[in-house]
Amino acid sequence: QSGANDLQTKADRLVQMSICASLARKFPKVTIIGEEDLPPHDVAEELIEDGHCEEILRKPCPPQYAGIKEEELVIWVDPLDGTKEYTEGLLDHVTVLIGIAYGGKAIAGVINQPYYNYEAGADAVLGRTIWGVLGMGAFGFELTEAPAGKHIIVTTRSHSSTLVNDCITALNPDTVIRVGGAGNKIIQLIEGKASAYVFASPGCKKWDTCAPEAILHAVGGKITDIHGNSFHYNKEVKHMNSAGVLATLRNYDYYASRIPNTVKQSLVP
Ligand code: AMP
Ligand code: MG
Ligand code: MG
Repeated sequence: QSGANDLQTKADRLVQMSICASLARKFPKVTIIGEEDLPPHDVAEELIEDGHCEEILRKPCPPQYAGIKEEELVIWVDPLDGTKEYTEGLLDHVTVLIGIAYGGKAIAGVINQPYYNYEAGADAVLGRTIWGVLGMGAFGFELTEAPAGKHIIVTTRSHSSTLVNDCITALNPDTVIRVGGAGNKIIQLIEGKASAYVFASPGCKKWDTCAPEAILHAVGGKITDIHGNSFHYNKEVKHMNSAGVLATLRNYDYYASRIPNTVKQSLVP
């Protein structure tokens, strides 16, 4: 465990070991960047996953990706997004994020929600996987529009600040939803629960936004920092998204044009 704001649990460590070691074994030339700093050691064989998903392989690869070489890919892994909420038992806020970047751009992503339906009774299927590829679309959920004419903002639950709240107030929302996890907040957008994800603060990192960005962009949404700059995901990039997050499925310009200059001036990219 690092700081109160930056928890690390055994689950974060084990999941990262499993994902990163499994990917590295199958794709030895890709660059894999995981959130947790783990001492290099042998990963138990039982943590290695070597299966594949038929549903994904049945779909034709968009032609613009056909010539990509393994060594040109960077994979950003957040083994457990929403750790704070996880430790408090808010299990459906938790996601596992795997984002794939090429040429600095998020081109594919997986958001696994391991505890989806956990309160829905014994008959419900527990967990789900949402995935998407830019140029192909996104799957594993039903794309839903947020209520028309309503401004529903989703933001952090556990990393608020005066700036975060001032920015939201300036947008004059009808409703503010406070939930954990960057992955979870993108799910709120694509399932029509919220119209904008607004986070005017540093704190969110590249592994938080890569997979969500690929999925959101695959369905026509947009995610940037608070200034409107797009994120870059090449392996040398700074991990911190210092200038916050602004994401929408629709009407990006409405929100972007209403971010106060005072907020922008407080967040240096
Ligand atoms: P949240 O919306 O608070 O769940 O944050 C989304 C992601 O960014 C999570 O992975 C958080 O751990 C991370 N994050 C946001 N703000 C901070 C912060 N002040 N310190 C550490 N991590 C943060
Ligand atoms: Mg995270
Ligand atoms: Mg995490």
